[in-house]
Parts: sequence; structure tokens; C-alpha cells
Amino acid sequence: MAAKKACESFSKGLIEDVHRWGCLKQTGVSLRYMMEFGSKPTIKNLLISAQFLHKELPIRIARRAIELERLPYGLSQKPAVLKVRDWYLDSFRDVRSFPEIKNMNDEKEFTEMIKAIKVRHNNVVPAMALGVQQLKKGMDPKIVYEDLDDIQQFLDRFYMSRIGIRMLIGYIHTKMSPMEVARTASEDARAICYREYGSAPDVQIYGDPDFTFPYVPAHLHLMVFELVKNSLRAVQERFMDSDKVAPPIRIIVADGEEDVTIKVSDEGGGIPRSGLPKIFTYLYSTARNPLDEHSDIGTANAVTMAGYGYGLPISRLYARYFGGDLQIISMEGYGTDAYLHLSRLGDSQEPLP
Ligand code: ATP
Ligand code: MG
Repeated sequence: MAAKKACESFSKGLIEDVHRWGCLKQTGVSLRYMMEFGSKPTIKNLLISAQFLHKELPIRIARRAIELERLPYGLSQKPAVLKVRDWYLDSFRDVRSFPEIKNMNDEKEFTEMIKAIKVRHNNVVPAMALGVQQLKKGMDPKIVYEDLDDIQQFLDRFYMSRIGIRMLIGYIHTKMSPMEVARTASEDARAICYREYGSAPDVQIYGDPDFTFPYVPAHLHLMVFELVKNSLRAVQERFMDSDKVAPPIRIIVADGEEDVTIKVSDEGGGIPRSGLPKIFTYLYSTARNPLDEHSDIGTANAVTMAGYGYGLPISRLYARYFGGDLQIISMEGYGTDAYLHLSRLGDSQEPLP
């Protein structure tokens, strides 16, 4: 039933248009260019980038919409995935029906519109998580999810592209202080921990507080937030019922020439070696799943300590988008170190899935 929805609410002409645009070549933007352009918001630059987005966004959005229709194992037909696909079709239609951008007035309106698009897509990640969950439920239990490599790869591509689209709409801060971002991200994670457990271990941050470098604060915030959340949960679960004081989580910020590296260390007991290959898959979590069929993915923004199994794979994608990486080293019985390498924004070309 639900599968019909696209045809019902979107015209045949629109679907054809999507397929036409989906075949066009995407244009990558070098990260350095993005940064330099973004830091000089002259009228001319704003116009040029709005005009670029007007052409580029429909291509990228169309590709994702098409891909969403061709997922294996019937994932495309799951209600949550159909909903995501509808968001993409809606956004495609919005951008395509916007007239040519000629002056700053048009630019303003266009910017308002893409901001609304960004909000529309806020919950794509939990919605896709729900879709995969819905798929898992109905699947032959003999199929183990580590074997669903094509879904893993699709999600990697899909989210990488999403990061790119949101990046084009977002901004780079030329003087971001990693210490400061780490502090606010840690506080946000601790607040959630507090809400869930009634207490939260300390987080100590070491590094040069005056050090800044160009990066996207929202991305770093997200990555540190996810890592600290994982650490808090591990420490909390381990020390909750003991009479020992929970050991603090330690964050170290190192500014190298090539990379800025942020290490998040905890004494939460680590991850067994047999579990390590799974931690970067989208389907693996040792927490109970917070999503169910009844949660309203359109509006719900329930941030929980853990449970989607998305924290690590998504964080690694964000790191890799700018040429960095994320590594997890664990000592079972003791704790975990997460190394977040952020490449100092170079000329690396935007990855285009
Ligand atoms: P969420 O999507 O809400 O983050 P999650 O925390 O379960 O859910 P990930 O952040 O991807 O998902 O982590 C996957 C799994 O790896 C966790 O469920 C946990 O078992 C393990 N893990 C991650 N970080 C740590 C850590 N610091 N200490 C112990 N186990 C960890
Ligand atoms: Mg997590």
C-alpha cells in the first residue's frame, strides 16, 4: 500500500525529472575553496553560490532519491524509507520549481528555502535506522547482519552524500577552537547521561585553549558528542553499582601539522576483541533499541545515550569527509581509546558518492 504513495502524491512529470537530473554529473567542491568562499560573503560570492546550489542540489538530491528506490532486500518498501524518499522528492521539487536566481532578493528567498529543506531532512538518520530495523524484524534470522554488506555500503554512500549536501548549505569556521567545541559537546553528552542515569562521570579536557584551526564546528561537535556519549555509558554501566568513584573521561587535543587529533579515553571496561569488527556497522549496538514502530520519525528528536548503533559509523564518515579518520583501540577489562584524526583543511576533493 505504502509503496504506491510516491505515484499518488508526486506527478509522473516530477519522477521523470528526477531521473533526468539523477543522470547528470555532480560537481565536487574542494574543501579549501568552500572555506575561502564561505569566509568572504560578498554579494557576488553569495549570488554565485546560490546559483551553483540551484543547479547542484537537484542533481545530488535526485541521485539519492533514485538510490532509495533501489535498495536490496525490500528495504525500499519499508514505511520509514518511503518517508525519507518522500522528503527527497519534496526537496527536489522545491529546488526545481524555484526560478532563476538573478539578484540578492532571489538569493535571500532561495537561502530561506534551502534552510527549510535542511530542517526537513533533520531526521533522515534515525528514520533510516528505523527502516533498517523494520527490515531486520521481518528477515530470516539466519541472515546475519554482518553479511548485509551492500546495505552497509549503501548507507555509507548515502550518509556521505548527505554530509556533502548539508555542508554546501552549512558553513566552515575559520577559527574553530577544538577545546571549546569538545567542552560543549561533552557537556551536552553529560546532560543526557544525567537524565538517563541520574549521575554522570566527569570529563576532563587537556590541550591549548587558544589553539584554533579552520573546521566545521557542527561536525566536530557531533563526533565528540558521540564518542563522549559512548564513554559515559561504558563508565556509568561499569561503576553505577560499585562503591568506587567513577573515573573521569579524558579528552586530549593535539595540534599536529597534518592532523589535529582528539583522543577520548575512558575506563569503561573496553570492548571485547570479537566485537570490534562490528562497532562500525550501522546495525550493531549493545544497547536496547530506542526506536519502535510507534515513534514518530517526522518530529521525534529523542536523543538517548545509545541504541541506534549509528554513533561510530556516522562519526567516522564525518571525519573522513574532510580527509580525517576515526580509530577505536580497546583494552578489554580496562577501557577504550578513541582517536579522532581531523585533517587540517587541505585541498582534498570532496568525496562524491
Ligand atoms: P548510538 O547510535 O546511540 O550511538 P551505540 O552507542 O550503541 O548507539 P555506537 O556509538 O556506534 O552505537 O557504538 C556501537 C557499540 O560499540 C556500542 O553499543 C558499544 O557496545 C560499543 N562501544 C562504543 N564505544 C564504547 C566505549 N567507549 N566503551 C565500551 N563500548 C563501546
Ligand atoms: Mg553511541
